[in-house]
This record gives sequence, C-alpha cells and structure tokens, in this order.
Amino acid sequence: MELHNVSFSYQTKKPLIEALSGEIKKNKITTIVGPNGSGKSTMLAMLARQLAPSRGEIRFNGKKLAHFKGKELAQQLAVVYQRNEAPLDLSVRKLVSYGRHPYRTMIRSWTSEDERAVDEALSVTRLTHYADVSVDSLSGGEQQRVWLALALAQETDVILLDEPTTYLDLYHQFEILERVRLLNQSKAKTVVMVLHDLNQALQYSDDVWVMKAGRLVAKGSAAEVLTSACIRSVFQIETIIHSNEQSGSVLVPIGTATGALVNGGEACEVGK
Ligand code: ADP
Ligand code: MG
Repeated sequence: MELHNVSFSYQTKKPLIEALSGEIKKNKITTIVGPNGSGKSTMLAMLARQLAPSRGEIRFNGKKLAHFKGKELAQQLAVVYQRNEAPLDLSVRKLVSYGRHPYRTMIRSWTSEDERAVDEALSVTRLTHYADVSVDSLSGGEQQRVWLALALAQETDVILLDEPTTYLDLYHQFEILERVRLLNQSKAKTVVMVLHDLNQALQYSDDVWVMKAGRLVAKGSAAEVLTSACIRSVFQIETIIHSNEQSGSVLVPIGTATGALVNGGEACEVGK
C-alpha cells in the first residue's frame, strides 16, 4: 500500500493528518506508534477505507483504494478494530463465519471452501474447542482471538489491527503478537498494526512508523527508528536501551523527560 500526500480532517477542524506519504511493504509487519490522539486509528481507518482522505490518495497493489468494489477489497484486506462489541448469544463459529461474507454471492451459498476457511481460522487461533460456545461468555483475551479469527477467515493478504493487545494481560498480549508474527511468516500476510508498547513494537515489527500530532515523524526499520532520542522527542519519556544476545534490544522507560530536549519529534530523522 502506498500513501501519497494523504491529508484528513474531521468536520471543519484544521487537518488532523497533513500530507502524509509512505509505503507499507508487502509481506512485512509495519507498526504505527505514537502518543494518544496522534492520529493512528484515523490512519488505520483510511487504510481500511472506513475514512476517505480529504486530499491525496492511497493505492493498494497499484490501484486507487477508492476504486475497489466493496467485496473485492474485503477479499484482500481485513481489519480488527480496537473495540469490538460481541453480539450476545452468537456462537464463535457463527461470528467467525461472517468473515466469509465477501465470498458469498446470490448464487454462491455456503461451500466446503468456506467451511475449511472457518475451521482453519478457528484452529490457528486455538478456538476449535470454543466453536459452539457463545462469544459473550468468553474472556477478553479469548474474544480478541475470535475477532482475529474472523479476520483470518476472510483469507486476505493484508490484515490491519488497531491495538490488538490493549486490554489483555501480558501472556495473552504475547500470544496474539506471536500468532500475528507466525501468520506473517507462514502465510506471507502483510500486517499493519497500532501498538502502545514500544518493546512489542521493537520485537514484532519489521518497520515502525512514528506519529505525532498527525505527522509521520519517522519511519524505518524498528531498531533504526526506536532510539532514545526519538522516543524522548515524541513520547516525552527517557528510556535506556539494553542489548544482549538473549533478549535482543530492550527499551527500559525510566521516567518523563523535561526541558529543551523535548520537541515535536525533530529528533526522529530516519526515513522521513
Ligand atoms: P490515536 O489512535 O492516535 O489515539 P485518533 O486517530 O483516534 O488517535 O484521533 C486523533 C484525533 O482525532 C484525536 O484528537 C481525536 O479526538 C480526534 N477524533 C477521532 N475521531 C474523531 C471523530 N469521529 N470526530 C472528531 N474528532 C475525532
Ligand atoms: Mg487509537
């Protein structure tokens, strides 16, 4: 996916996102990080075509995103939103089977191919045993896996995830991220996700985009972008970065940053 000078504003307010350009690389994991309100979810919604840029354009495999037919796009791109309302009394299998909607037509009803896709999505997310259980009876972590399974049943090349780990305990955070990484590797999925935890961004991303106040202040490989100086400048916190063979690079946040070194992201120079 390519973004060319994309701008966006809500109603008549001044633009939230202004002239943002960048490329989401195929078969890679790109993670968007940035403080609250910096425009990450808005960006993801534009990539998912839930919102249309007010200026500029987004291209997907060379074609304008705006020119895709609804089902055509849904066969190639799936989204998991940050907040998902679980419908009461719907079984896990039923909800996940909605992921097959883009493949249904007037004459093509449910097929063995749909059945296989749903079975596989349930299996990958370890939900096979919960298939007949109602979604609202599951824990938050399990429900998060159901939404992921729904997106997987769609069998798309691209998957967009808005803070997939935010409401989960640590074990389930890692579990989701490991699953996402596995899908990226075994199924060559292109992943774009928003994460809050910078260590997780470092560990599970190929590329990182850093947003601040609607601007893309840095983009590049995770290790290249997530430096102490850049983090101080964007998040206004001090971090120490430890590297060793066992853990790779680990960021240790140690407190808020103050003074002249805090700015609008100017210390993030990489790949702007
Ligand atoms: P992030 O995901 O980085 O926290 P968002 O993209 O959700 O940021 O929001 C960026 C800014 O846009 C915030 O200031 C938010 O209040 C504003 N905003 C988000 N959604 C709407 C909306 N539907 N209408 C008006 N303003 C919005
Ligand atoms: Mg958000």
